[in-house]
Amino acid sequence: METVLRVIDIFLTRPVGPETHINCMNVVQYVKRCIIKAAMNIPKDQKPYDAIVIGAGVAGAAIVKALKNNDIDNFLVLDQASGPGRGTSGHGFALCHPYIGRGASRLQRLTMLAFNEARQIWNDYWSKSGVLHLPREPRGFDKTIMSERLLSQGFNLEKARPLTANESLDITGVALAGTFFPDGGWVNLKKIAEDHLGKLKEKQKKWSCLVTNIQYKDKCWHVYGVNHELIGSAQRLYLANGLGARTVAASAGIELPLKPVRGQLSTFKYGASSTWARTKPSVAISGKVYCLPPTQNDESGSYDWSVGSTYDENEYDLGIWEKSHVENQALIQEMFGDLYDASELQPIDAFVGVRCVAKDRLPVIGPIKGHPGLYALTALGSRGVMWSAIACQMYSEHLAEELRHSAFFDERFFAGARLAGAGLSDDLASALLPARFFAGASNSKPIFPSA
Ligand SMILES: Cc1cc2nc3c(=O)[nH]c(=O)nc-3n(C[C@H](O)[C@H](O)[C@H](O)COP(=O)(O)OP(=O)(O)OC[C@H]3O[C@@H](n4cnc5c(N)ncnc54)[C@H](O)[C@@H]3O)c2cc1C
Repeated sequence: METVLRVIDIFLTRPVGPETHINCMNVVQYVKRCIIKAAMNIPKDQKPYDAIVIGAGVAGAAIVKALKNNDIDNFLVLDQASGPGRGTSGHGFALCHPYIGRGASRLQRLTMLAFNEARQIWNDYWSKSGVLHLPREPRGFDKTIMSERLLSQGFNLEKARPLTANESLDITGVALAGTFFPDGGWVNLKKIAEDHLGKLKEKQKKWSCLVTNIQYKDKCWHVYGVNHELIGSAQRLYLANGLGARTVAASAGIELPLKPVRGQLSTFKYGASSTWARTKPSVAISGKVYCLPPTQNDESGSYDWSVGSTYDENEYDLGIWEKSHVENQALIQEMFGDLYDASELQPIDAFVGVRCVAKDRLPVIGPIKGHPGLYALTALGSRGVMWSAIACQMYSEHLAEELRHSAFFDERFFAGARLAGAGLSDDLASALLPARFFAGASNSKPIFPSA
């Protein structure tokens, strides 16, 4: 094949008479295109895309944003489901606030950065209520100690406010001490997926399309379906398909250590005279479980309340579990105390999803080493809002750099000057790369601009 193409190239550059040359050029170009397509098993009418994105959840939406930021329009988004936001991103109430740990851990530093990105990138999908974050041991909460800890970790006390129980009652509606994030909130992931992917042009999206394997051939990634048919080919392929990335990557000999964690967010109903009606949280509360402000039904005066989520490792079942309702009831009672009666919470519905989690609990974001043009955005765990947002920014910058150099940087990750300036150091960005799971991971440092 290479010899044939080389002969054609020589023929193309051969000097002949002007008209003959143009005619020959057209014919030869056509033959060349056909030969390349035949070698790739591409139907004649199917041109390679600039990029293919597998997965139409919030991860897919973040990638599409990054492609568009770089003026790439010739892409295809694929999903096995019948529309966008039908997987774990079917979640309408995904909470978002930075993580608070004991020290300035990698997770804490990353979530501080990612939270700021999420506030900007997903701003239109953000509820502005604020989030009260409860300490692990409520009795041990000391406002002064907490303030010192937050300051030492780089928090601004206007944006992360330690509150005593009395102060909290005024601000959040509940007499529970904790750290209040006034900019925290919850995000509608389903709407993000629908707006960013559902509204794409017809030629840019394909639903009910299960990808079974991928192959790199002739400097292009080829994506195949259940009957081994070629779905499409592209120079760039993004695995944004949650747990499905494990199987698809494995078809190209890449092992991603991902696992499922089932979660159930229960919707409970309680009456206007229930013990729970004594408290009226006006913000989201995050502790052993999280809950949103309850909504009151006009006619009956009863309340609907979202409370969750359970964390069942290695479970895939998307059915609603009674025992998960019971677990959520028990944990919310533990959070609020004995003045409330968990048995008054009547389960009426639930959101159930399967999170994708990496073995070190960090997301997998970046080019896959040794596979030019292949990228991952998966393992978003319980922080899909934040990780997708920071990934969008990182991918926008990385792609810009690749396009500028007309090259693939599969061993480097250009994270961009803005994030670097905001504190995304080498070690933090390296901690996200897929290469951390492969041998020789130390060669895969991200590259930051010197400016
Ligand atoms: C109960 C629960 C509560 C949660 N709470 C929060 C929260 O409070 N805050 C927060 O930030 N996050 C939360 N999360 C996590 C958040 O929902 C996820 O991190 C996020 O939705 C993951 O998005 P994704 O795009 O990676 O995956 P998905 O939304 O699952 O998208 C992946 C898509 O890939 C498709 N796909 C998979 N394999 C293939 C294939 N081979 N071919 C074609 N298509 C394929 C799937 O159909 C799916 O649509 C919660 C999750 C659960 C389950």
